[in-house]
Amino acid sequence: MKGFAMLAPNEVGFTEKDRPALCAKDALVRPLAVSPCTSDIHTVYEGALGDRHDMILGHEAVGVIVEVGAEVKDFKPGDRVIVPAITPDWGAERSQAGFPMHSGGMLAGWKFSNFKDGVFADVFHVNDADANLALLPDWLAPEHAVMLCDMATTGLHGAELADIGFGHSVAVIGIGAVGLMALQGAALRGAGHIYAVGSRPISVKVAQAFGANTIVNYKEGPIAEQILKLTNGEGVDRVIIAGGTTKTLGQAIEMVKPGGIVSTVNYYSGADYLEIPREAWGAGMAHKQIRGGLTPGGRLRMEQLLDMVESGRLRIAELVTHVFHGMEHLPEALELMHDKPKDLIKPVVLIDEDA
Ligand code: NAD
Ligand code: ZN
Repeated sequence: MKGFAMLAPNEVGFTEKDRPALCAKDALVRPLAVSPCTSDIHTVYEGALGDRHDMILGHEAVGVIVEVGAEVKDFKPGDRVIVPAITPDWGAERSQAGFPMHSGGMLAGWKFSNFKDGVFADVFHVNDADANLALLPDWLAPEHAVMLCDMATTGLHGAELADIGFGHSVAVIGIGAVGLMALQGAALRGAGHIYAVGSRPISVKVAQAFGANTIVNYKEGPIAEQILKLTNGEGVDRVIIAGGTTKTLGQAIEMVKPGGIVSTVNYYSGADYLEIPREAWGAGMAHKQIRGGLTPGGRLRMEQLLDMVESGRLRIAELVTHVFHGMEHLPEALELMHDKPKDLIKPVVLIDEDA
């Protein structure tokens, strides 16, 4: 089978591999629509996961089931499914502890394009199919549904980790696809004033449509200073980090109020240590919490997100700015995520439109 892979650090290309083997609880899926993630860029170009060789990329896909193992009860070949980026082993100890994304080891619920070949392939393998796949309903287009696999669940997790309550002032740092979903999550949870930190015009427009009250451009000066000025020196109740650099965590601590929460779903690369500004952190005594996490995955999460979209409460279509037709366009789509042109939020590649 063919796949689009990280061949070596800084090098991508098509590769040929054997079709994955199938165990009793697993499924093989043929993609209908896939989308590259900024995490693929961190992996290939920033060495964020360490060396990976000849590993097929991609962890955002909806597809059609090709084959299921003998013990799969709820799905059959031909079913159209949403495949979450995170596919935990649901029986594992960390899953029982409430952290399925870390089943089998820290971050090990993230398997595609991390520990095993990803979804940019003719066919890919899904573990624990009954617990990880969700049926793709007819009313949702594959190019929109693929925004649920990672972008929607991660952004909303940012809002969950921030524990946003009615009337909280919230700063969302980074308004790519994840930040935009975090922003919607903040609005859904009843935030008072939402500050969106970003610069790309298309992201700013969507952020405003999703509920941002004030836009802060990080290219126009230090963001903590800007937010503190806008809040008369008080800062905000909650910060969600969904973009930025290794300096961003420190800036978030500077702009959050004592007793506030900094939630981070960003994937940091480029330095081994993140700095906490001692003074702004009250020399350790400011009750400024930092909570970071990998997004939850699995079937129930996807079904819940689908319900939110169906009821009109969650908007995802605005994230898709570029649609390609055919697997041969995967290199172009990945390069777009790398370059981040002004009119881009997320590219989607439709792979088999006749299915
Ligand atoms: P993105 O690149 O589209 O968005 C990030 C945004 O941050 C960009 O618009 C960029 O311009 C902006 N930015 C850069 N520097 C900034 C700064 N100094 N201050 C404010 N904004 C700045 O990426 P995305 O797809 O939205 O993903 C966001 C992050 O979340 C990435 O690091 C990604 O790898 C990570 N991620 C994490 C999970 C998870 O489970 N925790 C899942 C998916 C993605
Ligand atoms: Zn991702």
